[in-house]
Amino acid sequence: MKLPYIILVDDDRQVLGAIQRDVRSKYRDDYRVVGTESANEALELIKELKLKNEALAMIISDQKMPEMDGVSFLEKAKETFENAKLVLLTAYSDIEAAIKAINTVKLDYYLLKPWNPPEEKLYPVVDDLLEEWHSHYKPDHEGIRIIGYQWSPKSHHLKEFLTGNLVPFLWMDAEHSPEAETYIESAKASSTSLPLVVLKDGKVLADPELSELGNAIGLRQKPAEEVYDVLIVGAGPAGLAASVYGSCEGLKTLLIEKSNPGGQAGSSARIENYLGFPSGLSGGELTRRAIAQTLRFGTEILTPQEVKKIGVHDGYKVVEMSDGSVIHSKTIVVSTGVAYTKLEIPGIEKFTGAGVYYGSAAVEANACRDGIVFLVGGGNSACQAALHLSTFAREINIVIRKDGLRQTAANYLVENISKVPNIKVLGNTEVVAVHGENILDEVTLQNCSTGEQTKVPANALFVYIGSRPGTAWLDDLLLIDDKGYILTGRELTNEKTFHSKWKLNREPYFPESIVPGIFASGDVRSGALAGISSAVGEGAMAIRFVRKYLQEN
Ligand SMILES: Cc1cc2nc3c(=O)[nH]c(=O)nc-3n(C[C@H](O)[C@H](O)[C@H](O)COP(=O)(O)OP(=O)(O)OC[C@H]3O[C@@H](n4cnc5c(N)ncnc54)[C@H](O)[C@@H]3O)c2cc1C
Repeated sequence: MKLPYIILVDDDRQVLGAIQRDVRSKYRDDYRVVGTESANEALELIKELKLKNEALAMIISDQKMPEMDGVSFLEKAKETFENAKLVLLTAYSDIEAAIKAINTVKLDYYLLKPWNPPEEKLYPVVDDLLEEWHSHYKPDHEGIRIIGYQWSPKSHHLKEFLTGNLVPFLWMDAEHSPEAETYIESAKASSTSLPLVVLKDGKVLADPELSELGNAIGLRQKPAEEVYDVLIVGAGPAGLAASVYGSCEGLKTLLIEKSNPGGQAGSSARIENYLGFPSGLSGGELTRRAIAQTLRFGTEILTPQEVKKIGVHDGYKVVEMSDGSVIHSKTIVVSTGVAYTKLEIPGIEKFTGAGVYYGSAAVEANACRDGIVFLVGGGNSACQAALHLSTFAREINIVIRKDGLRQTAANYLVENISKVPNIKVLGNTEVVAVHGENILDEVTLQNCSTGEQTKVPANALFVYIGSRPGTAWLDDLLLIDDKGYILTGRELTNEKTFHSKWKLNREPYFPESIVPGIFASGDVRSGALAGISSAVGEGAMAIRFVRKYLQEN
C-alpha cells in the first residue's frame, strides 16, 4: 500500500521546522510527512494528491497565516479530503477561533503551542487521530476515472472504448456524484471540458480523442517491424483467432483494430453457444482470454487504428492507416465483420449515446437501473441484451414488427425470456419517433396493423436491427457481392471480371479474395455463417492458406 500523507502548514519557518521535525521523527516510516509555509501551496498539493488517488490522513495547520487563516484553509482542504483529520495549531489567544472551528469545519483537535514535550502533548493526540482515520479509511479506486455526464455521447464512447479494451475504470457522473465535483475542481476543469479522464498517475485528459487516450494508457499505435508476414484488419473473433494461429505458427503477425478488440462478440453480455463453456461466458471475458493468448504468442496489436485503404506494390501489400502512416505486409486477412444498421427515424442521431445505443447493453446496463428500456429487434442479440438488462431496469420492452420472437430468435432464448416477469414483447409494433430535450425521455410506438400511435416514457432505446459489412473502405480493390460482403474462392469464378483480374494458374483458395494473398474471414466474407464459432474457425482457416501462399511466393 502507498503511504498516506500528513501535511503541515505554517508560515512561521521556525514553528514549521519544529513540528516537521517532531512529526517526522515518529511517523516517517508509516506516513509521508510534507511541510509548507504557504496555505495556497498546500491547497494545490492537496488537489494533486486527489488526482493521484493518494491518501491524506492528517493536516496540521497554524491558525494565524497571511494568505488565509488556518480555519479557512482547513475548510477548503476538507472539501477535497473530507475524511482527513484536521488539527489547528493555536496560540493561547486563538483558542476562541479554535473552539468555533470544532463546529464549523469539524476540527478534530486544537494543539496549543508549544507542544513540548511531544511525547506528552503531541504524539498521544496524533496517535489517536491516526488510529481513528485508519479505522474509517477505505482505499480509493486506484485506476482510471472517467468524469462526465451520464447522457453524453462523448462519455459513452470513452466508456465503450475502455470497456472494449478491457481497461478497468471508475465512472463518475458529474451531475450526481459530489466526488466528481472535487475532481473537476482539482483538475481546474469546467463543465465544458467534460468528459475528463483522470489517469492513474493523476494526469488529466480533457475530452480526449480515442487515439490520445489509447496512447496515454499505453496501447500501441505504431508498428515495431518494417514488414509483416500477415496483417489482420479487425480484432473480432475472426481476427483474434487468425492472430493466435498466425503468431503461434511463427509468422510475424500484426493485428489492427479501429476501436475495441472483441468486435460484435465483445458487446455480448452472455454467449451461451460457444464450445467448452457450458454455463456461457461474456464477450468481454472471451476477448480478454483471446488477447492474452495472442499476445503470449507474440502478436503485435495496434489500437485504436483504422485501416483506410489497402493496395499492392511490388508484390507487397501496402496498408494505409487513418493517421496517414503506411505498413507493409506479405499477406492480409480482412476480418472487419459487420457494423450495426442504424435505425432510420428523424432526429435519432442527436440521442445516439444519450439514451439510444447500438449494441452497448453491457456498457450502459448500470445507467438503466430502475428505468424503462425499449429494445428494437427480435434476433438473438436483442434477446441476450434484454435478459442482461432485465436485472437492472424496471421494465424491458422488446419491440418487433413480427407477432413474436419464435421466428427470429433461438428457442432457448425465447424460453428464458418468457420466464422473466419484467420483459414484455410488443409484437406487431415499431418505434417511429424519439423525443427529449437533450436526452431521450419518450418514444412513439406504432401498431403495424392499425397505424395507431402511442407516446410512452423511455429512459433508453437499444437497437439490434441487423448489420452491414464493413467493406466501404476497400475502394473496389476486392470483388464484393451485391450486399457488400467480400467474395472469395470458388464464388469469384462466377464473376464476369474474374478472368481479367485473376492471373495465377491456380484457383483462389477458399478464403482468398480476387487479389492473391489477401484473404477474408468471419462475418465480412460472402457466404460465411454468422456467429462466433464460425468466425473463429474462419480466422484459423485463413492462416492455413496464408502459409500456403507464403510457401509459394
Ligand atoms: C450483441 C451481440 C451478441 C452476439 N451473441 C452471439 C452469440 O451468443 N453467439 C454467436 O455465435 N454469435 C453471437 N453474435 C454474433 C457474433 O458476435 C459475430 O458473428 C462475430 O462477432 C463475427 O466476428 P468477426 O470477427 O467476423 O467480426 P466482428 O465481430 O464484427 O469484428 C470486426 C472487427 O473489425 C473492426 N474493424 C472494422 N473495420 C475496421 C478497419 N477499417 N480498421 C480496423 N478495424 C476495423 C471492428 O471494429 C470490429 O472490432 C452476437 C453479436 C452481437 C452484436
